[in-house]
Amino acid sequence: MQPADHLQNMSPSYIREILKAATAENVISLAGGLPAAEHFPMALLQQPLQQISQSPELFQYGATAGYQPLLDFCAEHYQLETGNSGLITTGSQQGLDLIARAFLNPGDGVAMEAPCYLGALQVFELAKAELFTVEQSDSGPDLVALEQLFAKGNIKIFYAVPDFHNPTGRVWPLAARQAVAKLCQRYKVGLIEDAPYRELRYHGDALPMVSSFCPEQAWILRSFSKIALPGIRLAFISGPQNWIDPLIKIKQASDLHSPIPLQALLLGLLKSSEFNNHLLKLREQYAERYQALSGALDKYLGDKISFQQVEGGMFLWLELNQKNDQPINTMKLAERALENNVAVVPGEVFYPVGQLSRPALRLNFSHASPQQLEIAIQRLVKAFDRQ
Ligand code: PMP
Repeated sequence: MQPADHLQNMSPSYIREILKAATAENVISLAGGLPAAEHFPMALLQQPLQQISQSPELFQYGATAGYQPLLDFCAEHYQLETGNSGLITTGSQQGLDLIARAFLNPGDGVAMEAPCYLGALQVFELAKAELFTVEQSDSGPDLVALEQLFAKGNIKIFYAVPDFHNPTGRVWPLAARQAVAKLCQRYKVGLIEDAPYRELRYHGDALPMVSSFCPEQAWILRSFSKIALPGIRLAFISGPQNWIDPLIKIKQASDLHSPIPLQALLLGLLKSSEFNNHLLKLREQYAERYQALSGALDKYLGDKISFQQVEGGMFLWLELNQKNDQPINTMKLAERALENNVAVVPGEVFYPVGQLSRPALRLNFSHASPQQLEIAIQRLVKAFDRQ
């Protein structure tokens, strides 16, 4: 049986291969976006699990929008704007898919930053959207290029990760947040503000969300994967009521609802008086891992690389300095790294197919311990030496 035509459009499966190889026992993986399992809040699960096991009604079919007490908690905790509503999804990944299926016709324009979160690229490619990218820098997305794109009139959605971007770790400054919100309002472009890393800030103060400047014009995706548990696959998506209702329709056809016992478990976890301590500790652990990684990069790779310091999230974007304009093949470099038992992701997979990119690697620092991170970089040096 032949799969449907739209599967032909999907990005190469290179990253799936790398992630598979990265699970081998002797490989240190800086490849995936995996949280540290040793810091999962297991102790805080005991009491809610006990309660859930005595509540058969939680194992009944439930409402598509989600378990009402969890929806109420999210609405209050995230201070939902009046006129906006929310929906619990099976991870933010499902939120993205629902938006694409409910709002995009083939050929509709989607703007995104380059490089971009791979899972978003896949969703929009599957929806047969026409993808447009704008460069990003420390000042945020290229606003001139973004306005030119919007002004052409074919862009329906702008997908953005303004806090601790995947893959670059960047944070948009305040001015870019306000300017993008204005552009979305002026050109009636729907903003998807994808914020899975927002609560993983290790230093400095949080900036207002972009959507807070254009709440009538945005979806917000908040994932519980990075701050709680990725395996329970739960996220909260909010936006104007008439932007959420079509998502509920599609979700109903897709999976009826996300598992209610897991939603009750998540609620128990979020309401625990210890949850905040868990978050504080998690931030400390990840900050320490980031220090270990950035220190090892400076120590072992010095002039061969450059990277921006990050203040949170899980990723560091390692730019590779070309010597005498000699091209660097990052795919080959990642293969060599894997032969040396360290997994990294070549930067080019984070661009739409065929788009040129500067040589870079994405390094994750949340999964490996500080000691492993140092060893990983020593192994990466060997791969560099063989280039
Ligand atoms: N958006 C971004 C930017 C991500 O990095 C990820 C996960 N790596 C997701 C969405 C998907 O998260 P979830 O586990 O909630 O599906």
